[in-house]
Amino acid sequence: GKVIFNGELVERENVKVDIEDRGYQFGDGIYEVIRVYNGELFTKKEHVQRLYESGEKIGIKIPYEKDVLCKKLEELVQENHLETGIIYLQISRGVSPRQHGYPTPEVEPTFVAYTKPMDRPEDLMKSGAKGLLVEDIRWLRCDIKSLNLLGNIMAKQKAAESGCFEAIQHRGETVTEGSSSNVFIVKDGILKTHPAVNLILNGITRQVILRICKHNQIPVKEESFTVDDIKTADEIFISSTTSEIMPIIQLDGSVIGNGEPGEITKKLQKLFVEEIQKECKN
Ligand code: PLP
Repeated sequence: GKVIFNGELVERENVKVDIEDRGYQFGDGIYEVIRVYNGELFTKKEHVQRLYESGEKIGIKIPYEKDVLCKKLEELVQENHLETGIIYLQISRGVSPRQHGYPTPEVEPTFVAYTKPMDRPEDLMKSGAKGLLVEDIRWLRCDIKSLNLLGNIMAKQKAAESGCFEAIQHRGETVTEGSSSNVFIVKDGILKTHPAVNLILNGITRQVILRICKHNQIPVKEESFTVDDIKTADEIFISSTTSEIMPIIQLDGSVIGNGEPGEITKKLQKLFVEEIQKECKN
């Protein structure tokens, strides 16, 4: 298939990444994952907005206007005839002789985007998945969608080794987020999720869920909660671009609620599908 490399649609085989690309050497860059349903980008504006914000936070200037970037991504999806899947895109600070400080004068960022077919995880969304509590050892700027993911991948690996789908991270007593998702709990009919501060990535799926809650009078608080709160929650789910709304029915081997996806979780899943259908008709 085709990929975008520094603005050009080219064959993947023809892309060469320099060994002194700062993304490769330092993880000095940012990325996004965008869902494609029915050949259309879901929450495209929100993802592009977050990419620009991540760029601003670390001094990487995205080399295209927002609408030009959107057009390029849509072209890529059409070129590859992608129906259901994702776009992965990343921008590194660029190529420069290895030294920690930002290059002066500035260099051109390296831009890469490609598509990948990916089904919605419908079976797991129906049955629910297992979670493992893991200490959050990451840095203090988790609000940046940085290429540096060592803390995240170590957490996910721990979860996988325990046969769990996701690592649910906590800093001391406070639950923050999953290794590649946000975390919600339901207790006595009220939803809670960690506020969008430096300790979590403000997920686009999280934002869609908050909007759905508002429009449907479902009580939700952007308030942190504890390890004890999540262990005794009525319902738990995680949210992400690829996993949408994924019920967590077991945590550290203990059953949550009655061991099945909860009523509020299921209602939100249904409303989320309606959002997809509204935005990605075709
Ligand atoms: N938190 C982290 C650490 C993530 O990596 C992700 C996405 O992969 C999310 C949250 C969820 O964000 P989104 O809903 O935008 O995919």
